[in-house]
Amino acid sequence: MISKEERTGLVAIIGRTNVGKSTLLNDFLQQKISITSRKPQTTRHRLLGIKTKKENQIVFVDTPGFHRGHKRALNKYMNKVALNSIEGVDIVLFMIESLKFDEEDNFLLKQISKNTKEVILVINKIDKTTSKNDLLPFIKSLSESFNFAEIVPISALKKTNIEDLEQAIIHRLPKGKHLYQEDQVTDKTERFLASEIIREKCITRVGDEVPYRLAVIIDQYYEEKRITHIVATLFVEKNSQKGIVIGQKGKRLKSIGTAARKNLEEALGKKIMLKLWVKVKKDWTDDQKAMNVMGYKVG
Ligand code: GDP
Ligand code: MG
Repeated sequence: MISKEERTGLVAIIGRTNVGKSTLLNDFLQQKISITSRKPQTTRHRLLGIKTKKENQIVFVDTPGFHRGHKRALNKYMNKVALNSIEGVDIVLFMIESLKFDEEDNFLLKQISKNTKEVILVINKIDKTTSKNDLLPFIKSLSESFNFAEIVPISALKKTNIEDLEQAIIHRLPKGKHLYQEDQVTDKTERFLASEIIREKCITRVGDEVPYRLAVIIDQYYEEKRITHIVATLFVEKNSQKGIVIGQKGKRLKSIGTAARKNLEEALGKKIMLKLWVKVKKDWTDDQKAMNVMGYKVG
């Protein structure tokens, strides 16, 4: 049998923060490689998710959500990563939430359309829209406002229409040799995934302020015969935040550790021994030098 010609495409998932980009990426890959939460600005890095099916290879680019009106160095870094990710891709999945299209969405769409690429509009969270009478006019007005290659309403959470969206992408994949081996799912290391999972467990257990001031650094990561040892430090900006993360009698930190260990064992398929520390690094989110150390380096 003659094998079909390979097709490979870079597909960026772009959208406002919290619209569901990372949830969608995990759907496509059927595993968690990008952390998600109901709090905005969870994703901070550019992260690749690779899906290879026979002759087709889709290289998804998950990005930090774009957000305006924040002036700290970390916010600028995240916006830069988001906008840079549009360059050089074949297809953009522009994601919005059902029935919402605000100024930030509009700004982003303008940025995307500067590079004449195929833009697929992905309308997420349709599970929250009960009436079709609302959704259809919304779709119609968007289709009139911009020349989208396609418009696909989905629910990333309920996994509705994900297959249709994948087909829409596959139809548009350019010819080209695969960039990654067929069993590779991400460009990131296990060590990186570990730090992200720990950060996610912390984000979901603290109030609204700490997540934006939190970074996780892996101090040690080594494997023994039956167990992988991970030692990590959670950095926050103030003593009060350190107190929140640790909790009364260390309860919260313990719960973060237990949840992270369980999730890590599941994600990595290994037994994990996890030790967490909490430290204060004053104002690190506005200090490029400190950010470099934490892995938020531009360029
Ligand atoms: P990102 O910032 O764009 O990467 O968004 P996330 O993937 O982190 O998701 C943000 C929040 O929206 C999380 O709480 C998700 O569970 C939730 N979410 C994602 N997709 C859907 C969806 O289709 N329906 C609903 N109701 N919630 C969703
Ligand atoms: Mg995300």
